[in-house]
Amino acid sequence: MSLAAGRPYLAIPGPSVMPDAVLQAMHQPAPNIYEGDIVTMVQAMVPDLRRVAMTEGKVAIYISNGHGAWEASLANVVSPGEKVLVCVTGRFGNGWAEMAEGLGIEAVRLDFGTKTGIDAARLEEALRADTGHSYKAVLFSHVDTASSLRNDPRPLRAALDAAGHPALLMADCIASMACEEFHMDAWGVDIAVTGSQKGLMVPPGLAFIFVNRRAEEARRAMPRVSRYWDWTPRLDPEFFYQFFGGTAPTHHLFGLRAALDLLHDEGIEHVWKRHQTLARTIWAACEAWGSDNGAMRLNVADPALRSHAVTALGLGERNGSALRQWVARNAGVTLGIGLGMATEEDPKGEGFFRIGHMGHVNAHMVLGMLGTLEAGMRAIGVHHGPGGLEAAARVVASG
Ligand SMILES: *Cc1c(COP(=O)(O)O)cnc(C)c1O
Repeated sequence: MSLAAGRPYLAIPGPSVMPDAVLQAMHQPAPNIYEGDIVTMVQAMVPDLRRVAMTEGKVAIYISNGHGAWEASLANVVSPGEKVLVCVTGRFGNGWAEMAEGLGIEAVRLDFGTKTGIDAARLEEALRADTGHSYKAVLFSHVDTASSLRNDPRPLRAALDAAGHPALLMADCIASMACEEFHMDAWGVDIAVTGSQKGLMVPPGLAFIFVNRRAEEARRAMPRVSRYWDWTPRLDPEFFYQFFGGTAPTHHLFGLRAALDLLHDEGIEHVWKRHQTLARTIWAACEAWGSDNGAMRLNVADPALRSHAVTALGLGERNGSALRQWVARNAGVTLGIGLGMATEEDPKGEGFFRIGHMGHVNAHMVLGMLGTLEAGMRAIGVHHGPGGLEAAARVVASG
C-alpha cells in the first residue's frame, strides 16, 4: 500500500527543498519597488552573498535560471569568434560549451569522461600548446550534477599559472554553491556562476555571477555586450537594485534574504561540513548495499572526487527507474533521473538515478530517504548487500 501521504522529500539535485522560512518570507503583498525596505534589503544582501562565495569581488544578480548565468558570464568576457577551453566531466560541461557556441564562441572541449574528474596535467598541456593565447577562458563545473564528480579548482588554477596562460578561470558553481567548500579568491577563480534553486534554497529564477578584478578588466576590454546581460550596472551595489533590466524579482529577493539568514546563522563552514557528513552517510549505505554482489554502484569510485551535494548511482538494468517510481508512489520521496549516463547496454540510462542532498537537508531526512531506498529495493526485488542502514547510522552517530 502507498505510505506517501505526509511531508514529501524532493531528493533531486535542484530545485531543492524550500525551507518554511523562505516560503513564508515570499508570502507577502507586492512591495513599493522605488524606496523603502526592499531597496535597503538588497544592498545589505551583497556582503552576505559574497560571504557565500568567499570573495572580495563583486556580484551581479540576474532574473534567470542557471542557463542564463552561463550565457551572461560568457557574454561579458568573450566575443563571438573568440575561443574558450571547456573541461567536460559530464552533461553540464557540455551544456556550458553549447551555450558558448550559441553566442558564436568556439568551444574547444577537453573531455575527461564521467568517472575520474579533470586531469590538471592534460589541461596544462592544452594551455601550453596554445602559444598564441587564443583561449579567453577555461570553463569547468565545480560539481557536474550529472556524473556527481567534484572538480577541485586549485589544480586548475595551478595549471593556468604553470602554463603562464592569461585565460580567465570560470567555475560553474550552480550545484555546489552553499553546499561545497569554496573559496573563490583563495582558490584563484575569476568568475563563479550560480543559481538560486540549489544550495541557496530559493525557487529557480535568480542567477548570480561573482567576478574578480581580472574579470572586470576583461569586461572593460569588450567592444560590446548585450544590454540585458551586461553586468556593469548590476555590479554596483548603490545602483544595481534599479538595474534588473526592468522590474526587480521582488519575491525571490525576499526568499533569498531568508535563505541567507539561514546559511549565515548556521555558519557557511558548518553548512559545508553538514553536506560532507550527510554525503558520507549516503555513501556508507550505498557501499554496503553494493557489497556481497549487491547491484548498487556509486558512479564515482574515489570518495575524494565525489560531490557532497548530489550522488549519481547505478542499480543495473532498468532498476534505477523502477526504484524511483516505487519510492515516489509508495513513500513520498522523489529521486532524480539519471542524466547523460546512457550506455550501449542501457541506451536510456534507466539503470541510473541521482540523489539530491543539497541545501535544506538534515540527518533525519537523509536517514529516512535511505530507509526508503532499502524498502524500495526489497519491494522491486533488487539484490543488495547487508548493513546499509547500520552503516549510515554509524556515520551520523559519529558526526
Ligand atoms: C542545475 C545546473 C545547471 C543548470 O541550471 P538551470 O537553473 O537548470 O538552468 C547548470 N550547471 C550545473 C552544474 C547545475 O547543477
